[in-house]
Amino acid sequence: MHHFQYKGNELCCEEVPVSNIADEVGTPLYLYSHATLRQHFKAFDGAFQDVAHLTCFSVKSNSNLAILRLFALEGGGADIVSGGELFRALRAGIEPGKIVYSGVGKRVEDIEYALKSDILMFNVESSQEMLLLDQVAGKLGKKARVAIRVNPDIDPQTHPYISTGLRENKFGIDIKDALEEYTVAAGLRNLVVAGISCHIGSQVTLISPFVEALRRLKKLIVSLRDAGINISYLDLGGGLGITYDKETPPHPREYGQAVKAELDTQELTVILEPGRVIVGNAGILVTRTLYTKKTPEKTFVIVDAAMNDLLRPSLYGSFHAIQAVKFKDHKKIKADIVGPICESSDFLARDREVPAFEVGELMAVMSAGAYGFSMSSNYNSRPRAAEVMVKGENYYVIRSRETYEDLVRGETIPDFLKWRNLHKRDIHD
Ligand SMILES: *Cc1c(COP(=O)(O)O)cnc(C)c1O
Repeated sequence: MHHFQYKGNELCCEEVPVSNIADEVGTPLYLYSHATLRQHFKAFDGAFQDVAHLTCFSVKSNSNLAILRLFALEGGGADIVSGGELFRALRAGIEPGKIVYSGVGKRVEDIEYALKSDILMFNVESSQEMLLLDQVAGKLGKKARVAIRVNPDIDPQTHPYISTGLRENKFGIDIKDALEEYTVAAGLRNLVVAGISCHIGSQVTLISPFVEALRRLKKLIVSLRDAGINISYLDLGGGLGITYDKETPPHPREYGQAVKAELDTQELTVILEPGRVIVGNAGILVTRTLYTKKTPEKTFVIVDAAMNDLLRPSLYGSFHAIQAVKFKDHKKIKADIVGPICESSDFLARDREVPAFEVGELMAVMSAGAYGFSMSSNYNSRPRAAEVMVKGENYYVIRSRETYEDLVRGETIPDFLKWRNLHKRDIHD
């Protein structure tokens, strides 16, 4: 369920016509529905209501402060993968005690920052990281709560670029080596073994890989207990998929039930790290048609959004539905929807049956709330899009469109490149 629906011929976000916002704020533009974000968070969190749990929203999927704040107000925590994400989470008001830190390449500065912030748990991904964490914690006179992120060797049956729990992936510590690593961790003075974590991949549309991973973790928990190591947190990661096209992912409720059915102890607090399932269908990218062009091979609809705004189609060949913002009796055409960037991989849709968009017409690129703006860049020196949140009849710019000045912020020209009068200059200088 989401709140992007037609009222008459107008696509609306909640009560506001999308075209009004596009006219006032300009395009390209990310648009989020407050009601959808809130509903999705509550549906997910509610699916685990009768178990001790913590829903740590995956900040990398959408890191806008207003969105993080919304989840903080709902009692959510954060799953972070960098110091920058920690900064955002704290700035948004998420309690440090609800923040878990994953990622294979944590730097010393980031570890120090997280220790000083007193986050809930470090999800450690290698033995070197564990030793470093112990050392840094010792230096700061802190105890670091750790989970080992285990790689359970599960095929999540998703796109290879977003599967993370296979033995060949860079993530986590092989589940076969986990007991040994835990024994090392338990012997380190500045670490407190607090949990176990895994994250098998993203856009997972089946329950079974999650259940299989959980079973493997449970076995490990038993071996740990036998070795005298007791943990309090079971972090199952994120990964639940959404409908972009015709996928039929399980409802969070089914996921919650499947997890609960496997849990035979009340002693563990379950941590969930959902990203996409909460924000994916709560946001769209709005773009305007600049040109249409027919070549001997194809029809192109050239729009003002590009791969720098929404990278997923170029990066993973992902599908995003394309809709007209103002519905009329469009003829249908088969076209590529492409942006202005100088790359052939700059497309939002390929060989797609779409309305025959005319110059100036707005289109909505659906399901763009996750890994949309957060993956955007300034490639081709394109200022990043504005982000807007709609609540009922009102809308709020939650990130203003970047300016040309923003593009050069932080850049300096060293003195030796000082401007000299060109015509006086020795050409061989
Ligand atoms: C990316 C990521 C998530 C979120 O994944 P979704 O598919 O968006 O739910 C959760 N945990 C970790 C460790 C991640 O890397």
